[in-house]
Amino acid sequence: MSEPVSEPVSGPVSGQVASHREIVIIGSGPAGLTAAIYAARANLAPLVIEGEPSSNSDQPGGQLMLTTEVENFPGFPEGVMGPQLMGDMRAQAARFGAEIVTAKVSRVDFAERPFRVWIGDPDAAEPTHTADAVIVSTGARSVMLGLEAEQRLIGHGLSTCATCDGFFFRDQEIAVVGGGDSALEEAGFLTKFASKVTLIHRRDELRASKIMQQRAIDNPRIEFAWNSTVDDVLGESKVEGLALRDTVTDEKRVLPVTGVFIAIGHRPNTDLFSGILDMDEAGYLVTGADRSTTNVDGVFACGDVQDHTYRQAITAAASGCMAAIDAERWLESRTD
Ligand code: NAP
Repeated sequence: MSEPVSEPVSGPVSGQVASHREIVIIGSGPAGLTAAIYAARANLAPLVIEGEPSSNSDQPGGQLMLTTEVENFPGFPEGVMGPQLMGDMRAQAARFGAEIVTAKVSRVDFAERPFRVWIGDPDAAEPTHTADAVIVSTGARSVMLGLEAEQRLIGHGLSTCATCDGFFFRDQEIAVVGGGDSALEEAGFLTKFASKVTLIHRRDELRASKIMQQRAIDNPRIEFAWNSTVDDVLGESKVEGLALRDTVTDEKRVLPVTGVFIAIGHRPNTDLFSGILDMDEAGYLVTGADRSTTNVDGVFACGDVQDHTYRQAITAAASGCMAAIDAERWLESRTD
C-alpha cells in the first residue's frame, strides 16, 4: 500500500463530545473509498471509518486486500495488485481531504438526525461521531471452509471469485467447492479456461437450480466429486492439491489441482444495521431502484453490502460514486 494504515482509534471517554461531520462513510473497500473521493472533492470533508484488521477475511480495504493481481479494473493495462489498488484509492481520498480512521463502528443510531455512530464501547452514552448523512459500504465476505490453509493460500491458487481469477488457470485442472448456483456458475465460467473443473459437493444432490444443474452436467469439462468434503488444501506457497474425504465411506484421497475456488456462499456485513436498515432475506441492504437510498432518509448504501449480483470492484466503485452524489444532493436539498 502506498500509505501506511493509521493506528486503531479507541472509543470515546466518558463526557467526550462527539465530533460532527457532514458525511460519515462506514467501510473502506472500493465503494467506500470512491464515495470518499467524490464527497471530499465536493468539499464535504468526509470521515471514513475504515474498519480494523481482525482476521484475514475482515480488514480495511475489503476483499481486494485478499487478492493478488487484479486484471479487470480499467486503467491498468498491466494489471495491479489488489492491496496496491486499495492503497492508491485510500491515498486519493486522503489527498482531497477525507479523514480516514482505522477503527470499527460498534453501534449506530439512525432514529433521528444528526445520526449517531459509536466506535469502541457500544454502551457508551455519547457517540463518537454524529453525521448529517451516512454512507454504508461495509461490504460482504465469502463464506470460507474454515481451514488454516485458506488464509495462507488465498491469492495463491485459492480464490473466491472466478470472474477475477479464472484467467490465471488456463489449461489447468482446478476445483470448485459448493453445490449452489454460485458454485455451478463459477464452474461453468472456469471451463472457458481450465482443462478440467472438479465440482466438490458434500452431498449427492445439488442445491442449485435445475437449469444450472443441467448445464453443469452437460459440460464435458466439469466432473463431480459427490459426497466429498475438503479436509485440507495442500501446498505451502501455492495450491498443489486437495485432501478430500468421502462423507459416506470416510475414504480419503488427494485430488491434484493447481487451483480451488470456494463458492459456498456470501454474507453481507450488515449485523450492525439489524432492525435499523431494511434488508432482504439474505441480509443485503435494500436500496432504491438505481439509487443508493435506504429506508432511512439521509443514509445511503453502496457496494457489495447491497449487491449480491455483480460483486466486482468496478461495480462497487461505481455505486460508491452514486452514493456520494446522492448524499451530496440530499444534503443540499434538505430543509431541516
Ligand atoms: P447457497 O445457495 O447457499 O449454496 C451454498 C452451497 O455451498 C450449498 O450447496 C452448500 O451445501 C454448500 N456449503 C455451504 N457451507 C459449506 C461448507 N462449510 N462446506 C461445504 N459446502 C458448503 O449459496 P450460493 O450458491 O452462493 O447462492 C446464494 C443465492 O444466490 C441463492 O439464492 C442462489 O440461487 C443465488 N444465485 C443465483 C445465481 C443465478 O441464478 N445465476 C448465481 C449465483 C447465486 P448444501 O447444499 O449441502 O447445503
